[in-house]
Amino acid sequence: MSSTPSYRQELRVAELAVQRASLLTQKVAQLKAKGTLSKDDTSPVTIGDFGAQALIIQAIKKNFPDDEIVAEEEASSLRENKALSSQIWELVKETRLNDTESDWLVGGQMPSEEVFLDTLDSGKSAGGPKGRIWALDPIDGTKGFLRGEQYAVCLGLIVDGDLKVGAIGCPNLPVSDAALTPTVGQSGSDGIEIGVLFGTVKGAGSTSRKLGDGALLPSKPISMRPVPNIADACFCESVESGHSAQGDNAEVAKLLGITNPSIRLDSQAKYCSIARGAGDIYLRLPTRPDYQEKIWDHAAGDLLVREAGGEVTDIHGKRLDFSIGRTLKDNKGVVAAPATIHAQVIEAVKAMYAAKA
Ligand code: AMP
Ligand code: MG
Repeated sequence: MSSTPSYRQELRVAELAVQRASLLTQKVAQLKAKGTLSKDDTSPVTIGDFGAQALIIQAIKKNFPDDEIVAEEEASSLRENKALSSQIWELVKETRLNDTESDWLVGGQMPSEEVFLDTLDSGKSAGGPKGRIWALDPIDGTKGFLRGEQYAVCLGLIVDGDLKVGAIGCPNLPVSDAALTPTVGQSGSDGIEIGVLFGTVKGAGSTSRKLGDGALLPSKPISMRPVPNIADACFCESVESGHSAQGDNAEVAKLLGITNPSIRLDSQAKYCSIARGAGDIYLRLPTRPDYQEKIWDHAAGDLLVREAGGEVTDIHGKRLDFSIGRTLKDNKGVVAAPATIHAQVIEAVKAMYAAKA
């Protein structure tokens, strides 16, 4: 009888790689010029996105050389911009974990700029239903990152189409699991301690720990909080109105009797916040019918929430399908909530669309 893999090593590598990449993004956050370029779809990309992606791919390739990677960024614009490329390589070289064994595990120093560019370029897998595929968003919520607000370094492992492991670094999220406040979108300017690393393995639950700069710090299990009265639920959504239909989200909340305004925050910090019981519902209703959500924007968060007692589906109540390529083309939008109330939220979503039709 073959035993079920534990994915313990995958989780450890993922968490350390995300921690190291998070350190790099924190350094970039201190820079005045973040090397922002505009991609073909006009979304921004920074030194932080490129550097974090290279560091995480380095760790995956060292430990699991046969695995495929679906990552958001690629190196072509840097190959045409030598100054920016060299600047990022310097940053990648100097961002090491302050613990010899942990640093060695994620790959240590990057030997040359060419290796850096090739590593950065190794995230072009088409995805699909077979084999081991990592989904990587080196900085999810780049717009939040540029505003000095919430963003997340996100990594998930998909095996034969099914999510098995997730790690998410949220450098600007409060360490405390306390309820979300309207200012959580902004980084911890009011003296609260910030920086959290979330981890999850299918069948083994979800955890969080403080983000550190060396070996992994002690973790604790997290779970969604009970919602005895749905009208008291806290719902969160994107800051960017182009990413989620805020008017439709508000209508759904109204149908559920929720009177508190939404909490807006960028990135998969939304999945993390509800998974730890700091909020309850995450609504991402589509802004346009043709947009296909990207697997790297949801892989780690989907598993984190489901392992913490939640359900994650699209607007039709269908589970997100990570087995069909780089996008979630068979799904529309996202609705995440505790398992006990998820069906009720979907009913409200359907009622909202029916009323609009
Ligand atoms: P958030 O921070 O939750 O608003 O999500 C950020 C992500 O939204 C980015 O990483 C983009 O990949 C994604 N995105 C870009 N355009 C759209 C869109 N029209 N609808 C939904 N998501 C989008
Ligand atoms: Mg993203």
